[in-house]
Amino acid sequence: MDTYENLLAAIAPAGGETRAVEDPATGERIADAPVHTTADLDRAITRAQQAQPAWAALSDEERSATLNRVADAIEAATEPLARVLSREQGKPLNGPNARFEVGACVGWLRATAATPLPTEVVVDDGETYAELHYRPVGLVGAITPWNWPMMIAIWQIAPALRMGNAVVAKPSEHTTLSGLALAAVMNEVLPEGLLNVVTGAGDIGAAMVADPRFGKIMFTGSTATGKKIIEASAGNVTRLTLELGGNDAGIVLPDVDPQAIAEGLFWGAFINTGQTCAALKRLYVHDDVYDDVVAALAEVARKMPMGVGLDEANVLGPLQNRMQFDVVDRLVEAAKASGARVVLGGEPDREAPGHFYPTTLVADVDPDNPLVVEEQFGPALPIIRYRDLDEAVELANGVDVGLGASVWSADRDRAREIAARLEAGTVWINSHGGVHPMVPFGGVKKSGYGLEFGVEGLKAVSVPQVING
Ligand code: NDP
Repeated sequence: MDTYENLLAAIAPAGGETRAVEDPATGERIADAPVHTTADLDRAITRAQQAQPAWAALSDEERSATLNRVADAIEAATEPLARVLSREQGKPLNGPNARFEVGACVGWLRATAATPLPTEVVVDDGETYAELHYRPVGLVGAITPWNWPMMIAIWQIAPALRMGNAVVAKPSEHTTLSGLALAAVMNEVLPEGLLNVVTGAGDIGAAMVADPRFGKIMFTGSTATGKKIIEASAGNVTRLTLELGGNDAGIVLPDVDPQAIAEGLFWGAFINTGQTCAALKRLYVHDDVYDDVVAALAEVARKMPMGVGLDEANVLGPLQNRMQFDVVDRLVEAAKASGARVVLGGEPDREAPGHFYPTTLVADVDPDNPLVVEEQFGPALPIIRYRDLDEAVELANGVDVGLGASVWSADRDRAREIAARLEAGTVWINSHGGVHPMVPFGGVKKSGYGLEFGVEGLKAVSVPQVING
């Protein structure tokens, strides 16, 4: 697995149905990916169930040591993994993109390995003695989207393994190679059968959710699919963690220095070319600083090169697939039609073979424009002017999702007061979207439920058991 070619060879389909994988930057066919069936899923579940008891019987320290060795293997394979990711997902090698994502996998594994979840003595008062234990759920299903296909998979897989579970993972059909490549490297270290990948489209995910052998489904994806998962899991009362869509607002107060915050705003909105669940997707800027913030942001945005991922100069890439390109295109056209002002971008080459949508800033857009109220999940940021802070808070809260939000101000205390009024699972102050393996992360409203990361994340892939007496 020391080269891109060897890694691709290791995950090449061994027969059965396949699907061509195209580079989203060029349309070039880069490999074929297997398309699994429900019979393949059944075999994966059986393998995982056979491997799980011996893994759960290991000590916590032994499981942690194994996770650290998995992190070593991923670190050693950074370049080939980053190349698979770049060619399939489209994100550049450079910048906060493919190498960064592989590095995050390493960091998350090590942090998860270092986080203990000890038994808690909840009452010991002479009359009652009660302990709370966290047992493995057995088999965890990990269903992931195409935007950060390796990092989000690790977010689900690492805690599941740490707590003594086996895993069946289903990557998005758009990023199958990335899921398979990551697992292939991890499986150089992990015991046989513990981590399995099934590929295919939503029907395989649906079959997983309906299968009673899964004790827990970890899902990251759209709110629409999340709702289907809730329905499909009801029959078995399967436990769920749902990290769903977002439409994060940022509120900029009049006391900011526009130059000083411009780069933070840019990466908050445009990391991974805007294809990030907790990216800044609507920016509300006070009238006093509006023109200066827009100008400073445009200056930063103009300097960020977009192009083919393997070119080290680029820090922004194409949209991963045509469906997402069409969403961004439709929403920007809706904003233009309403009379909004396009400050930058907004004119894609629709005939080009790659799915590039230029970095786009749309100013003086109405608060109820589709580009504002729908999730664009791409490189087009609407910037809304406000005069009354209460109104900005109301607009920020006026959607049915609540993953992240941010407040930008020179006055931290004031920013924290506003943060408390925002309906979002995380509110950042003077930054947007940064996550940390020890800081719990999850949404409110239709952005889902359950927490990932840190101790809360370990609890999410365990079943509590009280020993009383
Ligand atoms: P989807 O919901 O379309 O797909 C996510 C995963 O679910 C894919 O693996 C998909 O398979 C699978 N799937 C599809 N249908 C079903 C089903 N009925 N039952 C079980 N699994 C199914 O999301 P996208 O991949 O399009 O990702 C983009 C969305 O994800 C955005 O809305 C974004 O906001 C959200 N997201 C949320 C994050 C968070 O942490 N809250 C992080 C990242 C993204 P297949 O693709 O093969 O059809």
